[in-house]
Amino acid sequence: MRIYNTLTKTVEEFVPNNPPQVKMYTCGPTVYHYAHIGNLRSYIMEDVLEKYLRYAGYDVTRVMNITDVGHLSSDGDTGEDKMLKGAEREHKTVMEIAEFYTKAFFDDCAKLRIKRPDIVQPATGCIDEFIQMIGTLLEKDYAYKAGENIYFDTSKVRDYYCLTGHSADNLMVGVRDDVDEDTNKRNRADFVLWFTKSKFENQQLKWDSPWGVGYPGWHIECSCIACKYLGEYLDIHCGGVDNIFPHHTNEIAQSEAAFGHKWCNYWFHVQHLNERGGKMSKSKGNILTVSVLEDEGYDPMVYRLFCLQSHYRKPLEFSYDVMDNMKTVYESLMKRVKALKPEGEPDMAKVQEYRQKFTDAVGEDLNTSLGITILYELLKDSVSDATKAESIRDFDKVLSLGLTEALDEAAAGSGDEAGVDADLAAYVEAKIQERLQAKAAKDYAKADAIRNELAAQGIRLKDSKEGTTWEKA
Ligand code: AMP
Ligand code: ZN
Repeated sequence: MRIYNTLTKTVEEFVPNNPPQVKMYTCGPTVYHYAHIGNLRSYIMEDVLEKYLRYAGYDVTRVMNITDVGHLSSDGDTGEDKMLKGAEREHKTVMEIAEFYTKAFFDDCAKLRIKRPDIVQPATGCIDEFIQMIGTLLEKDYAYKAGENIYFDTSKVRDYYCLTGHSADNLMVGVRDDVDEDTNKRNRADFVLWFTKSKFENQQLKWDSPWGVGYPGWHIECSCIACKYLGEYLDIHCGGVDNIFPHHTNEIAQSEAAFGHKWCNYWFHVQHLNERGGKMSKSKGNILTVSVLEDEGYDPMVYRLFCLQSHYRKPLEFSYDVMDNMKTVYESLMKRVKALKPEGEPDMAKVQEYRQKFTDAVGEDLNTSLGITILYELLKDSVSDATKAESIRDFDKVLSLGLTEALDEAAAGSGDEAGVDADLAAYVEAKIQERLQAKAAKDYAKADAIRNELAAQGIRLKDSKEGTTWEKA
């Protein structure tokens, strides 16, 4: 597969460290609110990437963190604590909020046919690992204590801006500029590894540490969780583009400082879903969720199709008009798939040919819309329905648009019809026998009553010299 790598800013051949193994890490949600459909755009595209890698024969292990501590409203460690804000909004504890929105997130993922990563780890479950890595960073002199907090010293790493190409002069790109500077920092880009002096008096979650009771900063969790489950070498790391700076930049700085070598070779970032008013964001309130789409009458698959129809590296604008078009497209696609009558054996040479076309299309920087074009090409092709169904099942391993389920449903449906027909035939045959017996006993009234009874049920009897036959009226 070829994929755009944010680190090198080019589309490159994807070569994992130890093929066929692929170690994949995804930044998970901050669980203080529902995921909006913008967040879910990122998770849909990461899901397609994971499924494509599996389809291409790789053995993927995917890890995702759940941010349930330490994420402040500015990614640059200032502003309010997001989890605390959620807890106050709903008069619940932080852990109740975390549990509720983690479940809500995976419910939404299931509706969108996003596979659950192999390992899902809440940050609050790895405090010991964070303390250990922060200790290493202090020992190696990459971290310092100031104002009772522990900070990472970004001036100690050689190429802090490797991911963004920023320079220190335009550092604040991507960071809100309405926030106070933290005067404890030696350099503007430095970030908090451990807060002991909480600015939040009602901070609910605190842990003991060698530096006092406190809680971790946001960035350290991903380096530690990735290392815990995937070791010191990652193949591919994913997130939305807003994660590039400062979050992923900081993850690289601290991981490579702690390990003493390069950490992750490929960085995959999904562009934002925007509303007319700009970037969709949880903190704006009034968020657009999967449930809102369902209430408006859209199958979540319509949204998945909408995402797959555009390239992940282009910003995507959401509107109900486009969703209406997508709904029509999705419904007619499902109708065409359900109308297939796959009988007999598929032509496996053709299936292989289509598999190759699909692999080449999607394998070129995850060109999902071209993959869908090939699906339509297949539907139009003169190959048998059995061949079409076989290829559709194959494509749907990556697309996950519910096409396989549609084929299964159609197959089960026709099976049911056959079952219903068999029951009906047995019933009518029994009635015909009863009528014959009535005739033999010269009970013509009963014979006529049976004929009329069947006629009322839409069954027409035809008497001939050969006997009685029947048909549906
Ligand atoms: P959060 O829950 O805020 O930590 O974000 C979860 C994921 O959604 C991260 O990978 C973000 O980069 C991504 N994300 C945030 N906003 C958007 C958006 N409008 N469109 C696409 N992805 C987004
Ligand atoms: Zn992360």
